[in-house]
Parts: sequence; C-alpha cells; structure tokens
Amino acid sequence: MKTPILLNASEAEVIRALRKTRNVSRTDIAEITGWSKAKTSQAVNSLVEKGYLVDVEEGASQGGRKPRILRFNRDMGYIMGVDLGATSIDIALADIDGNVLQRICEPADVRNKPEDVLGRCCTLINELVQLQGCQVAEVLGIGVGVSGPVDFHRGVLVAPPLMPHWENFDIRSFFQQTLPNAYVIVDNDVNVMALGEQRYGDAIGLDHFLFVKIGTGIGSGIISNGKIHRGANGCAGDIGHICVDKQGPICHCGNRGCLEAMAAGPAIVQNALEAVKHGESPFMRHIMEINDDILTPEQVSAACREGDEAALRIIRNSGQMIGDVLAGLVNFFNPSQIFIGGGISNFGNHLLVSIRRAVLHRSLPLATTHLQINFSKTGSDAGIRGVIALALEYLFVDEDKPYLTV
Ligand SMILES: [Zn+2]
Repeated sequence: MKTPILLNASEAEVIRALRKTRNVSRTDIAEITGWSKAKTSQAVNSLVEKGYLVDVEEGASQGGRKPRILRFNRDMGYIMGVDLGATSIDIALADIDGNVLQRICEPADVRNKPEDVLGRCCTLINELVQLQGCQVAEVLGIGVGVSGPVDFHRGVLVAPPLMPHWENFDIRSFFQQTLPNAYVIVDNDVNVMALGEQRYGDAIGLDHFLFVKIGTGIGSGIISNGKIHRGANGCAGDIGHICVDKQGPICHCGNRGCLEAMAAGPAIVQNALEAVKHGESPFMRHIMEINDDILTPEQVSAACREGDEAALRIIRNSGQMIGDVLAGLVNFFNPSQIFIGGGISNFGNHLLVSIRRAVLHRSLPLATTHLQINFSKTGSDAGIRGVIALALEYLFVDEDKPYLTV
C-alpha cells in the first residue's frame, strides 16, 4: 500500500506554516517558527531540493527587488477527489494547491455493490486524467468521502445502514489498482464537508465548529482545535441516531425515535403524506395529483414557500427537533459556528429560524453569546472540495508522528 511522503520534523513545520498562510517567504517562515535564518534555510532548501517546494519571484517590485515566495511545486503531480453521495458520484482532478482542474458529476446508486460503484469511479478517473492530458501515475493522493460510519484507520465502512454491501470492503486497495502512486484516504462524507468548509468556505480560520448535514440522513462533522475530531473509532458526530422520542418510529438502525427517523428528508415526506391524507393540505394534494401520487422533500419545500400551513408546521417541527439536539451539542462542545448543509438545507429560512430558536432556547447563555448558525455557502461543493483537502492533508506526514497530519 502506498504511504504518504515522510518529512523530518523541521520540514513538516515548514509545510504546516505554508498551509496556514499562503504566499510566505523564507523570512515569514522564520517568523512563524521562531527559527534562525540558517535553520529556516536548511529546512526550506531540503524541501526545494526534494522537489516539493519552489522558490519563485512574485508580486510587485519593491525598491527594485521582487520578493521571493515559497509555494508547492505544481510539477509534483495531481490530487484526485471522490465524493460518493447516496445518489451521486462527484469526482475531480486538482492541482497540488487544491484548485479543481477537471470535474465530473453523475447520478449513481451507492446501494449497489462497491465493485460496481467504485469501478465506475475508476472509469471516470481515467476520463479526467485523459481530459487533463496527464498520466494516472502522476496522481499522488486520492481522498474519498462515503456516507456512513468509517473506521478511519482501516479505511472501511462499518455497518453502513445505507450501503450494506460495503461492510469492510477494502476501498483503498480498489483505488490503488487504478492509481498505483496515490495514497488513498477514506473518510465519512460529513467530516469531509466540514473540512471543505474550513479550507475553502466561511470557516477559514475557525478552530471550533460543527458542520451539520441534513438530507436523507442527518450527521455532523466536528472541527475541534482546528482538526477533524473523529473519536476513538471514527464515528464521532453521528448525531442522526440520538434518540428524540422513545415512542417514535423505528429507524433503519433498529432503534426507535432517532433524530434521523423523526426529522430528515424521508420523515418530512412521510409527515406531509399524512397531512394530505387528513385533508390538511390542498396545495400538496394538488402537487401529488399532477405528479403520479409522488411527493418529494423538494415539493414539501415548494409548498412551504407558498405558505402552505401544513408544510410550514412539518418543517418547523423538524427544525425544532434538530435544534433541540444541537442545543445539547452546543452545551457539550461550545462551537463558535454551526454550518448547515445537505439537500434539506434548501428549505430556507423556516427551517433555519426553527433550528436557531431551539438552540438559543435550550443552550447555556455563555455558549450562545457569539454562536452563529447559518447555511453553508460552500453548499454542494463542500464535499468535493473537502475530499481534495483531505488528500492534500495526508500527502505529507511527519516521520516521527506518522498518524498525525502535517
Ligand atoms: Zn437510528
């Protein structure tokens, strides 16, 4: 199995500084690390000689001299990102700075066998490589996001409710066959979205925040002290199975009244169908009549926008339940921000207002004084940007602490 690039402690420190602040000079590195000029030069020169960094002239001329800055060497190769949603595949080829160069999205059903879904991913990877005019051997790392609990150290899904065929399937080895020089890293889709928000969205510079995905399921990614908090086994943040009603409907995990079973997309549709059955929503009944008796979460959302009372009540209830659970998390974890993403986040302000109200009502005043709860503006791109960031994060590791990212 391909491993990340190992660096000594000083080299790792330089890479860390470079990741935090773009466009740094040698003088900046010396300031950030507190090292002497000689020590800084030695570490930087070593990275330049190995071909990982380049020292380039850039920016406006100052007194006749252009400042020289350090950046990653784009000739090193490429990064691949694969974001597997419940109903779609999103794949992108990026440069070493994380800029997306080629991207393909297409519908897919991840409940199919992993060989079929990942086989299709590998075909698309080859297409992207061809489009870019490069070689698969030039891809140095691939980040993969999947829906379900991931054992991060082994890179496998464990008891994934949505994808039962994927239990313990070796995703890394599968991709390694197509990308022989790439380090493969697999993580849960919401962790990846949190990372995408932190690297490219509104969470740049935030060290303590939650990313909550509300769609077919509900999950959260936790960024603590600037890093993803995965917990002892990798399933930290799986808030969809927190019980909100012991008498509630049976969840696909086997327990009763989980948040996901009560408030996610399928529950919203189920509640809307009940409302239609009881004659509470002529608007949604009409939508069903012109759509072969089918009702989708998007249509409930549309009914909401039209001011349909039943749809509004259902969305507000969902928001309240999600907010009640988040209130507990706010007291426990004290984040500075909560970002909401996923398909159901398109429900707009009614959902957001209910979530905010419940959190403010039930959380400690100190925890909510500066707390912000907003929809993620990175939205549908958070996943793909996140898997690329994940692959970049693990491209280099400190040889003394290989389990930690640089
Ligand atoms: Zn459950």
